[in-house]
Amino acid sequence: MSQSENRATVLARFPEDSREAANLLKQAVPLMVRHNIPPNPVHYALWYTYSKGQDPELIRRLDHTVENFDSFPPDSAAQLFREYIIRDELEDARAGQQQAIDLVDDMERDVSRSVKGSLDFQESLGHCRRKLDDPFSERLPDILSELQHSTQLMQDQQALFLSQLRTAQNEIQSLRDKLERAQLAATQDSLTQLLNRSAFTRMLEHALTDSPQHLALVMLDIDHFKQFNDQYGHPLGDRVLQHVGQVLHNALPPQAVAARYGGEEFCIILQKCTDITTAHTFAEQLRLKIQKLRITVRNTDKVLDTVTASFGVAFAEMGDTLESLLTRADDALYQAKRNGRNQVNW
Ligand code: GH3
Ligand code: MG
Ligand code: MG
Repeated sequence: MSQSENRATVLARFPEDSREAANLLKQAVPLMVRHNIPPNPVHYALWYTYSKGQDPELIRRLDHTVENFDSFPPDSAAQLFREYIIRDELEDARAGQQQAIDLVDDMERDVSRSVKGSLDFQESLGHCRRKLDDPFSERLPDILSELQHSTQLMQDQQALFLSQLRTAQNEIQSLRDKLERAQLAATQDSLTQLLNRSAFTRMLEHALTDSPQHLALVMLDIDHFKQFNDQYGHPLGDRVLQHVGQVLHNALPPQAVAARYGGEEFCIILQKCTDITTAHTFAEQLRLKIQKLRITVRNTDKVLDTVTASFGVAFAEMGDTLESLLTRADDALYQAKRNGRNQVNW
């Protein structure tokens, strides 16, 4: 899937304009509050889709889950998200898996046919050889012609096998490409090429389970981003997002991952980060790099007003959950906005 096809797939799944989307969220959020569902991207996506009312099966399963559990189990949410929100990518991967199975079955058949051909040839050679042991054999021309015939058969079979192998090789290559694209589409944000929100959430969950010590979360939100869209249009806004994404990508230390978490909001997991001051210093460097961006408006020599971002930093503590860590970073970010934007807060 190309980048634009990828984007088209996402747009096809959430085709609403921002007014409709806001209305759907207005319906989804009270439902989440009523059922005590923690606010996180996976839950938002599920309840947003629930509010659209177009997927009766998802509605039935969400209703069933809230009726049967006091608190919404994270495993169920992740499972529903995979089945109902990113299912196209899963279907692609499943189709790819079936194609791989068919291909291997075909190759196994070709190989056993070729092995059988070799065994027949071996038998035929032995047969001729035995006849040649007879010094009185007068049927030498017949034996030689039999030998010639079975050699020809063997040659034909080998040629067929080689061409089947070549076809299989090409199919394997295109299958690999297809699977790689499907995997990418399921984990990557197509605009910035950073991780997408669901892949990031899964990664943060793992990081918290595997090595919660020395883990910091940096969250940033571009300041007054809406004005870029309003003044110069959405494509320019998209380019700002790409530039900021590139800054994050280039600045990542080893063991760190960056994601586009929402519209103009990004997150970075810093692993092996010894203390909050290190995370703060890293965020401060990012802030300066973003501030230094000079983005020109296409087809003009106008340089965009300075792009800035506000940052919230949180350091994982004993007993932190995904929600508690994200909430701390988000609260710190919110405070950075209130303190006047273009700053790091923790
Ligand atoms: P603040 O400093 O408080 O963060 O203000 P803001 O303007 O950055 O934030 P606000 O939430 O008011 O606006 C965010 C805008 O981002 C609204 C939405 O239309 C836009 N947006 C979200 N996703 C995309 C995208 O993929 N591309 C573009 N161009 N705009 C997007
Ligand atoms: Mg913003
Ligand atoms: Mg925002």
